[in-house]
Amino acid sequence: MPNGGSDCCATCIFKRKLDKEERIENWIDTYCTIRNEHIINPGYTYCANWHTRCRVAQGPIFIYGIYSEGDYRLPWHNKNMPVVGADGKCFICNVKFEEGIEIKDKEKIKLFCSCKHYVEWWKDIHPDEVLIWDCINDDSAWQETMIFFYNEAIKINPKNLHALFEKGLLHADLGQFEITLKCFEKIITLEPENSIAWNNKGYALEKLNFLEEAINCYKKALKSNPNNSNARKNLNKLRFK
Ligand SMILES: [Zn+2]
Repeated sequence: MPNGGSDCCATCIFKRKLDKEERIENWIDTYCTIRNEHIINPGYTYCANWHTRCRVAQGPIFIYGIYSEGDYRLPWHNKNMPVVGADGKCFICNVKFEEGIEIKDKEKIKLFCSCKHYVEWWKDIHPDEVLIWDCINDDSAWQETMIFFYNEAIKINPKNLHALFEKGLLHADLGQFEITLKCFEKIITLEPENSIAWNNKGYALEKLNFLEEAINCYKKALKSNPNNSNARKNLNKLRFK
């Protein structure tokens, strides 16, 4: 889950707008209907559910913590959002700083010199989430992390077409075409006329060297949607092999 993209609370399908009376910060805040939380800064707030379209909360909410060490994600502490920019003395290392992290904990304010020290404290308080947090925070583990969340989403709702679709694409990125094949087969059982799913099933079969079967899938993709240009290209390429 890299930061800075459009995959934030501001564009999430699970948000709702707030009434004037409900607003706690300013005109941009919004409300998360999955986690029942006010989201103060939706343009810079993230969680896995944006991607999985799963209605059950998955992993922590986090924000984009911009600080001296560079970009670093900051998880919320329960219902509290860490705030970047306060000055004070670090709870972990006791060093004085001019711009750090502030968090409300049991009605008291704690201050941290850096994202690193905030996360160190947070991990102590949230031992169950340490593993998943390390994965979310590690861009090199992004695909595996998202596959984990998509699998969870599919367990919760086996008909989550979006999760099946994205999981299938991620496994294709990783060269795991047997799993990709299964994802798109499942989508086709749910939506037999889904042209894109037929094309992607064909692509997985082609990569697994089942060329005749792949051709049949591309044909089915075109039957469902004659304007599917990817299926057209894929079919032509195989026909002239
Ligand atoms: Zn510190």
